[in-house]
Amino acid sequence: MSSDCLFCKIAAGDIPATICYQDDYLVVFEDINPQAPTHLLLIPRKHIATTLDLTAEDNTLVGHIFQTAAKIATQLGFADEGFRIVNNCNQAGGQTVWHLHFHLLGQRQLTWPPG
Ligand code: AMP
Ligand code: ZN
Repeated sequence: MSSDCLFCKIAAGDIPATICYQDDYLVVFEDINPQAPTHLLLIPRKHIATTLDLTAEDNTLVGHIFQTAAKIATQLGFADEGFRIVNNCNQAGGQTVWHLHFHLLGQRQLTWPPG
């Protein structure tokens, strides 16, 4: 846990969020500024600042995050129509919170390329 990290505080329950799913390794909650009818954030409980800070020991964790995103999309009923998982890395990538997170966006037609 990083004491000055917003998402660590959400994972610890110190800052409120609408949590959809959690287990020993990750927390899933609603994005406060949704960009699609479903816009969830999947975060590891472990503080990892960016994709660049991942190591081989996180491979299982990242796989678990993706599998959880797919399960949620299936459970919410939009897996077959399609969805997007996004990770923004550093400033030019659009990252604004320095705790690794994956956006799960669904239930609208998403365009390409992203802005
Ligand atoms: P990124 O720009 O990829 O770093 O994404 C950060 C996301 O966190 C943005 O989509 C924000 O809307 C979202 N966000 C910021 N603060 C909160 C919060 N307190 N609860 C839920 N989502 C948040
Ligand atoms: Zn953190």
